[in-house]
Amino acid sequence: MTEIDRRELLRRATALASGLGMGAAFAPTLAAADPAPQPAIRRMVRLGRTGLEISDVGFGTSRLAGDEALVRRALDRGVTYFDTAEGYKGGEAERTLGRVLGTDRNRIVLASKVQDGRSDTRDELMSHLEGSLGRLATDRIDIYFQHAVNDVRRLENDEWLEFATRAKQQGKIRFTGLSGHGGRLVECIDRALDTDHVDVVLAGYNFGQDPAFYERFTGRFDFIARQPELPRVLARAKEKKVGVVAMKTLRGARLNDMRPYEGAGATFGQAALRWTLASAFVDAAIITMKSLEQVDEYVGASGWDAPHPADAGLLTRYARRAERSQCRYGCAECEGACPAEVEISQVLRTRMYAADYGDLEFGREGYAALQRDAAPCLSCNGAPCATACPHGVSIPALLRSAGRMLG
Ligand code: SF4
Ligand code: SF4
Repeated sequence: MTEIDRRELLRRATALASGLGMGAAFAPTLAAADPAPQPAIRRMVRLGRTGLEISDVGFGTSRLAGDEALVRRALDRGVTYFDTAEGYKGGEAERTLGRVLGTDRNRIVLASKVQDGRSDTRDELMSHLEGSLGRLATDRIDIYFQHAVNDVRRLENDEWLEFATRAKQQGKIRFTGLSGHGGRLVECIDRALDTDHVDVVLAGYNFGQDPAFYERFTGRFDFIARQPELPRVLARAKEKKVGVVAMKTLRGARLNDMRPYEGAGATFGQAALRWTLASAFVDAAIITMKSLEQVDEYVGASGWDAPHPADAGLLTRYARRAERSQCRYGCAECEGACPAEVEISQVLRTRMYAADYGDLEFGREGYAALQRDAAPCLSCNGAPCATACPHGVSIPALLRSAGRMLG
């Protein structure tokens, strides 16, 4: 082992120890003798009126394709909430879960999602659900979400309500939910709450969307925070006893940028998760886990009801580094700026998957599904959109790079 490897191991072990609530004093013991202790889920939470008890840190499967050891590790560490979708990795995420869960199925809470359309019929929706049940090798899904809702008209399809009622009666689903992280998320959650449409909300929510974060550390209220109404609707959901699960907790997951700044006490991932879990509006958080080390790292954030003292510095540094290069979740303020009608925020979201998450394939899949991608940007001087972002994101340069990388 090189000196750098040894130092990295010690640093990670110290952060894990912190995640376990052991504090920095634990680190020398790790260095001297024992391997790092195994992290474990330390808090179970009740998911609103569903009454379901789930681990506060849940396993997100958007990149899961065959790696059964990841699922087993999460189960071993006490994770009991697994979130998937029919579209993740072309159904492979559901298949992988289905192969592993087996007898553990009855002790975990399983959520999946369907990308329904505004005019889907109840039979079409049932066919989607049955496809998921088959891949998951189960007879029921505990929470079935409408996936990536960014248009209230999807909540007005009576066929969805008929389908959901029938599927519940047949025991194929237990609860329904709305998931979203787009520009109209607040409007959609409000509508779903008005009509008592959902039992659970899965919302993109992280420190970068909490105005209090910026008030506290920078004094610049609109430094990055988008959707200042989001805390209001999530609080409203809690009042109505609708379960609230957060996703996109890493705000772009630019983990490589942050490693040089991580030290004893916290990794960036743990800091971001702890911020979300400490929010009064959130019951639990899901996070995509792509390696055994990430399972342990993220599980190490379980059980905290307040940020670690080391967290604020990491989150603030991340926010500053990402200021000009990261499109804000839930923002659509540049909509209409492009004469060629390029979907700027959507292109930037797929670029984030490729460049920040480091998953080129996922980025390309998302990019290929766009109606109006960044092809026109490759021959445009960028003048119409250059100043369209009030948050200073360099739109033309980022779109050109997305067009080259993903097109
Ligand atoms: S580029 Fe700027 S204005 Fe456009 S969606 Fe992203 S953050 Fe909002
Ligand atoms: S670079 Fe040109 S084509 Fe691309 S979004 Fe901006 S204005 Fe539209």
